[in-house]
Amino acid sequence: MDILLYNSLSKKKDLFVPLNRDLVGVYTCGPTVYNTASIGNFRAFLFADLLVRTLRFNGLEVKWVMNITDVGHLTDDADQGEDKMEKGSREQGMTAWEIAQTHTDEFYLDMDRFHIVRPDVLPKATDHIQEQVDLIQILEKKGHTYTISDGVYFDTSTIFNYGVLRGSIEPDKKEARIEENREKKHSADFALWKFSSQEEHRQMEWDSPWGVGFPGWHIECTAMSMKELGDLFDIHTGGVDHKMIHHPNEMAQAQGSKGTSEARVWMHNEFLLVDGGKMSKSLGNVYTAEQLREHGFDPVVFRYLILTAHYRQQLNFTWDSLAAAQSALKRLRCIVREWEMPSVGSAEYEVRFLEAVNNDLDTPRAIALVWELVNDSTLAGSSKAQTLKKWDAVLGLGLLDYIARPLVVSDEVQKLVDARARARLAMDWEEGDTLRAQIAELGYHVDDTADGQKLSEL
Ligand SMILES: [Zn+2]
Repeated sequence: MDILLYNSLSKKKDLFVPLNRDLVGVYTCGPTVYNTASIGNFRAFLFADLLVRTLRFNGLEVKWVMNITDVGHLTDDADQGEDKMEKGSREQGMTAWEIAQTHTDEFYLDMDRFHIVRPDVLPKATDHIQEQVDLIQILEKKGHTYTISDGVYFDTSTIFNYGVLRGSIEPDKKEARIEENREKKHSADFALWKFSSQEEHRQMEWDSPWGVGFPGWHIECTAMSMKELGDLFDIHTGGVDHKMIHHPNEMAQAQGSKGTSEARVWMHNEFLLVDGGKMSKSLGNVYTAEQLREHGFDPVVFRYLILTAHYRQQLNFTWDSLAAAQSALKRLRCIVREWEMPSVGSAEYEVRFLEAVNNDLDTPRAIALVWELVNDSTLAGSSKAQTLKKWDAVLGLGLLDYIARPLVVSDEVQKLVDARARARLAMDWEEGDTLRAQIAELGYHVDDTADGQKLSEL
């Protein structure tokens, strides 16, 4: 079936035609590992995961590459400000290298918590300094660079359609947080290699043909994506914030060095808002997977919440919306436990699901279909089970652990449930409530139904 994907370059949904039918190349801008990735960052990774799962669901082989930015970057988009890794090092009392390793390990753990499939390659920027230097040399040879006092810069005026991705040559200065560097020829020009300053001692710096320093903001992605996927590959993904500076600059580097647009399809997910606004440290609402857990939520509940909105729409995160996602997911788990073993799926539902996800990853439609399937009284449980089992390859909600697996509780819980049944027979409601609370403490919720007590996981 056709796959339609919204391409930020063409600004419309295009039919996806792989460059090479045997292997689709997908590159995702990964985390900068100087602190813990937030749930806002994870919206971008969950979106990329969904894309990769959908392509594979269509029978395509995918090589998914996500970089780990472990080299010092500067705290603003204009190659000014403080180095994030060095700053993190000072704040967290570890070396820059330890900071990077700690947060890389943490990132892997969080990916598992959100059920994100592991990318095939996770190249680190610090392992690819030579590739970045080589690429800058090509750009230099082709006349796209110039050197000023603090580094080697890309001359954006040498690229004929520079900025096509964001729709303008000059970035929006307010949004890009640009502080003018007067030595630059054009304000859109950006650093390829920054020199270490004489006054400070940097923990991360390397020799280069231009002097000791470190790579600029954007060169690692172009160097590593081309190394892993070739000079032109299928799909590049990232958050919508990258559409303004990072991705136009990546594309310029590819155009200047290899004459390609790097990727054919550029896809961007919208922001995650928190309580109706942007996440910010000052508001204390930059939440992480660990904080979701501390609030009593399995991070996969956040995945469910993400699926309820289209990736190109802003999504407003509140603790209430997460609680609503949690009760929906619990209900779903509870229902699928009662189903018989999977048998033959429903072809009609399966076609409709494929139509939804192949239509630019329409997950709200896919989630609506899940509930339509669940509530369809004309279908046997075994058929629903088989269909949902297939869909979970895309949804990644971990439903296989629940489908046709009746809840088994410990003897301790069972004794309390039996005691509660006796208390209710004796119409001792107070005792019934006490026992209900004890059962809740052990992680289960009791519902009184016409068929007796029904247990579900809290
Ligand atoms: Zn990137």
